[in-house]
Amino acid sequence: MSKKVIVSILERMGALALSRYLNRHSPLILMYHRVLKHELIPGTYPEIFAEQMAYIKKHFNVINMSQLLMHLEQDNLPERILVLTFDDGHYDFYANAWPVIKQHGLTATLFVTTNFIDQQTWLWPDLLRYLLMNASPCELTFEGLGTVSISTTNLLATWNKLGDFCLELSSEDRNTFIKNMASQLKISIPENPQTPFAPTTWPQISEMINEGLDVGSHSVTHPILSKIKPDQLITELVASKARIREILNVNAIGICYPNGMPVDISPEVREEASKHYQYGVVAYPKKFNAKDLMRIGRIGATNDITKFKVKTSYLSRAENIGEYK
Ligand SMILES: [Zn+2]
Repeated sequence: MSKKVIVSILERMGALALSRYLNRHSPLILMYHRVLKHELIPGTYPEIFAEQMAYIKKHFNVINMSQLLMHLEQDNLPERILVLTFDDGHYDFYANAWPVIKQHGLTATLFVTTNFIDQQTWLWPDLLRYLLMNASPCELTFEGLGTVSISTTNLLATWNKLGDFCLELSSEDRNTFIKNMASQLKISIPENPQTPFAPTTWPQISEMINEGLDVGSHSVTHPILSKIKPDQLITELVASKARIREILNVNAIGICYPNGMPVDISPEVREEASKHYQYGVVAYPKKFNAKDLMRIGRIGATNDITKFKVKTSYLSRAENIGEYK
């Protein structure tokens, strides 16, 4: 029996509704990245995203992270709370996600990487994808990785291999690796991220704030915070918050840890983050605990409405979901 059939039976039996009811006091935080359809970029397709928004509107009280924190402070958290969160700040949030959220009268929290919005930096996974998309078929050799063949038919597998390798490198080594790759491919890296990797702009974010969007920080340059020096850690936390205040006149009360896996959020990172922010969100599922606000778990978005129904009924397994997988 297929998963889809099983879920449809559970749905008819009221099992999903029962599970949602039993968990009604536990807020559910969803984590999205991209809302678009692209062969090399993992994302939720716009038509499936629209279906998901209609579904949650029917079954949940959708609020944003700042509203959640306010309710916790006032000790008046409503039942069936669901929060939509989006990481990084790509243009498709403005073009594809927000119009649907707005149309349903919902809200969301967008965690922005401030140098990315300032068009000063590419997010490295995007840069890898950009190079692969513009490469002619060839073979590349890298120290520590060996030979990688690039052809138009295996781009995703190649991206996975290179991405996994890059994730383990320090940001300096990663930059060197990507520059080396670009030079082997004879591609010059554009200074600003190009479509479909471009960010949404500050004026667009400002426009969405006026329409009810909530904004948090996702650092300045998107490093893994546990891997950088203490003074850099402070800069990533403080300067991103300051930039958001400067441009948007908003007090960002939350930090979304880049990459967000348990190993990326050391006790030192949490300790420093708690000096500047009221909460922190991670990139893996974890039952909500109001006493552990610097480590709020999130459920990864999916491009499958059946899985989405299971996940939003508290029935997903607590598997780890990497940010770029
Ligand atoms: Zn991110």
